[in-house]
Amino acid sequence: MRVLIIGGGIAGRTAALALRRRGVPAVVYTAAPEAKDGASGIPEAGLWLPPNAMSVFEELEVAGAVREAGVRLARAVVERPDGTELYAMGLSSEEQGAPSVALSRGTLRALLAERLPGAVQHGGMACAGVSEKGDEVTARFEGGTEVSGEVLLGADGAASGVRRRLFPGATLRSADQVRYAGVAERPANAPKRAPALREVWGNGLRFGHLPLGEGVYWFATQRAADVPVSARSSHAMKAALARRYDDFPPPVPSLIEATPPQGVTRAELRDLAPLERWHRGRLALLGDAAHAATPNLGLGAAQALRDAYVLAVALEEHGTPEAAFSEYEEQRRESAHRVARRARQAGQWAHARGAWARLRDEALRLAPATLAERPLRQLFSERV
Ligand SMILES: Cc1cc2nc3c(=O)[nH]c(=O)nc-3n(C[C@H](O)[C@H](O)[C@H](O)COP(=O)(O)OP(=O)(O)OC[C@H]3O[C@@H](n4cnc5c(N)ncnc54)[C@H](O)[C@@H]3O)c2cc1C
Repeated sequence: MRVLIIGGGIAGRTAALALRRRGVPAVVYTAAPEAKDGASGIPEAGLWLPPNAMSVFEELEVAGAVREAGVRLARAVVERPDGTELYAMGLSSEEQGAPSVALSRGTLRALLAERLPGAVQHGGMACAGVSEKGDEVTARFEGGTEVSGEVLLGADGAASGVRRRLFPGATLRSADQVRYAGVAERPANAPKRAPALREVWGNGLRFGHLPLGEGVYWFATQRAADVPVSARSSHAMKAALARRYDDFPPPVPSLIEATPPQGVTRAELRDLAPLERWHRGRLALLGDAAHAATPNLGLGAAQALRDAYVLAVALEEHGTPEAAFSEYEEQRRESAHRVARRARQAGQWAHARGAWARLRDEALRLAPATLAERPLRQLFSERV
């Protein structure tokens, strides 16, 4: 069964790897030139891989390389702007059954790419159309090239063109949040603490940071209504962020200060309204193409990885694409939609304002296990 994969992000390349390890020939066609290919519309920056992402990498024998290339996180901590801790959760392997690792998207892409033969990864191939005839599915690319196979997987991200072809009514919904991000040089006077994913939740404002080997990845999220329309150039964005977060606890102001202005990026957050189906005929969707979530929980990559693995197993085990896709959807849909729903709720919770923010802080102080730790543990424990 020859499998065409459209999109060379986390989902597409992991699916190719998982399929080829099972002897199923799979070829990746991706829009961006090979060296630049990251997530659609997402700058090359950092990413945290939670325990259930790492368990997929264990299955694919990539975990050792990911751990070595990244930073193992000891804790996830949420603080208030006055520096007091709202809640903290251990992320060690002993506590979660697998480690959590922070690394740059570029590094992860390279680790996946180098495990696939060059001849099965084609960059600069933007898919412009898909058609089915008999037992064959054909992808047409910009420039006119066509390739055919028996199955086509749409791993082309949140704005998926394959999804548009399959389910034209699917809608991306605005989360009314804007997220800025950058990578700062590690401050020379940074306190010596165990590596952690740290967030500060203020009054409608949120700032998070995590160590990458070579620097510190940070993100700053605000409600869209609070974002000044004029601050669009990277210099203006950096200046506006420095003003907005100047009363946040160290190292927040110094991380913004230590970021080159041209490295500050902006993304309007959105998610995909839940799809009733992820497949039709010889075509199936995976990763953000099937269930894009807001990044409020940072679990999108883990979902993409789990899709890729489960889909590869199903395609190996079932005689027909229809049977394989039904099995895959059955195993993955509910869990992926739960993550997207919880991510949206987490975004509302983290960006609460006024009396709601005070209520949130008090609730978290009184019941951190019920409100934060237990639900997160449950999501982390959903493994392949
Ligand atoms: C701001 C932000 C921060 C995030 N942080 C985290 C985090 O810390 N941890 C985490 O787990 N998740 C995070 N996520 C979510 C995570 O990035 C996604 O869930 C993950 O990248 C999905 O992988 P994917 O392969 O499905 O899609 P993508 O990574 O979007 O990859 C899609 C691929 O398809 C290609 N493509 C697009 N159109 C075409 C076409 N027409 N033809 C061919 N190829 C095409 C693109 O070039 C790209 O390679 C974040 C998301 C955002 C928006």
